[in-house]
Amino acid sequence: MAKRSRTSIVYYASARATRWDYKYSLIAKLEELIKRLDFSQHIEHDDYVAVKTHFGSEGAHRIVRPIFLCKIVEGVKAVGGKPFVTDSTRILGWDYLEVANQEGINPLSVGAPVILADGIFGYDNVPVKAGPILGEISVCSAIHDAPAMVVVSHCKGHIQAGYGGAIKNISMGGVSGRHRSGDWKRARGHLHVPSEMDMVRNLEMCNLCLQCYHVCPTGAVLFDGADIFFDEDKCWRCGRCARVCPEEAITKGRELTEFQRGLAEAAQAVLSTFAPGKVLYFNFVLEVQPECDCMPVADTPLVQDQGILASTDIVAIEQASYDLINQAVPLPGSLAADKGLRQGDRILADALDVDAQEQINAAAELGLGSTAYELVEVESKD
Ligand code: SF4
Ligand code: SF4
Repeated sequence: MAKRSRTSIVYYASARATRWDYKYSLIAKLEELIKRLDFSQHIEHDDYVAVKTHFGSEGAHRIVRPIFLCKIVEGVKAVGGKPFVTDSTRILGWDYLEVANQEGINPLSVGAPVILADGIFGYDNVPVKAGPILGEISVCSAIHDAPAMVVVSHCKGHIQAGYGGAIKNISMGGVSGRHRSGDWKRARGHLHVPSEMDMVRNLEMCNLCLQCYHVCPTGAVLFDGADIFFDEDKCWRCGRCARVCPEEAITKGRELTEFQRGLAEAAQAVLSTFAPGKVLYFNFVLEVQPECDCMPVADTPLVQDQGILASTDIVAIEQASYDLINQAVPLPGSLAADKGLRQGDRILADALDVDAQEQINAAAELGLGSTAYELVEVESKD
């Protein structure tokens, strides 16, 4: 049962623009949200501040736009902090920085250094104690060592987790892709695959659609023109091949519930490296595509743009964001419409046939925040 011991404030700026005045733009409303969170209460002069976002992928363009990152960077600088915009290696580091640049995220556009939190090779991390599912997990060193963090998340679906917002941004995204020892069980792959099991591949079921080959970020799936093969040494156990395989020829060990709870555990491990009150959250419920920003495509949004949420409570902001999406009107031409969903259905949960509430409840049970929230609307810049 999730904790409901207190109600947390979640500030909300609608994506609607109702007047011809900059103050009513979503960018100006973000400036107001930054003011409401009062960065000076959370960031000290000269604090290095990780602005944690997701850089996207070669074919996925619906990320948090650089203009919004720039405003948050300005907010950090205004109170004397030293921000850096960061993500962990999702594909090989050099290529991922190139993706960030092509998505428009670079030092000129965001006004701060843009770095990989676990280094160009994805090996820079620090082992941190996690819960019973993960045991220990390697937190990206630039996040581990930063005294403060602003978590900037694009809220959307996720083929396995059902929903990806702030919890997923700092769990999957705050944990390193690789461990220097070569042990994937201490890195991000451990979230997908339990230590006692490896990826299970039944290639007699394979129809050679090659989707696994196209989504693999490390070149671990090989194709010789007749068959596919796997290079185990290159495999990070990211699970993308299993997620896209239409024949279930590839499976990975973790049950859905365990995976969702593992995400909460990893988020807790990452947050344990910060003093209380040093992490702030902005959720962008815009362009809510059905799939994660790391996939090689971005489908049309399931619902209309909702807006931006801001809070100091990761559980409350996640609950509010998930509720907003689930309660919205499904858009024509989307996966939700394909499935015949209507307002009143749980749009994201029903479109993906995965209920992500478990992920949010698990975070609440770990004491990361409260599922009870009060939405306070910010209508314009003051
Ligand atoms: S789990 Fe699959 S997609 Fe991920 S690195 Fe290994 S082979 Fe590639
Ligand atoms: S995604 Fe599945 S069916 Fe398609 S090539 Fe890979 S293993 Fe075969």
